[in-house]
Amino acid sequence: MAYKCGRCKKRVEFDAGNIGIRCAYCGSKVFYKERPTVAKKIRSF
Ligand SMILES: [Zn+2]
Repeated sequence: MAYKCGRCKKRVEFDAGNIGIRCAYCGSKVFYKERPTVAKKIRSF
């Protein structure tokens, strides 16, 4: 599972079910779930 650090915005990956995750770069514990690439087609006007 890929997350994005809420502080340094770096992309970090953790194993599913991993508790107590921490950013390896800045030590932040705030993460955003990184959404998979948007597959929906956006209609251009
Ligand atoms: Zn970080």
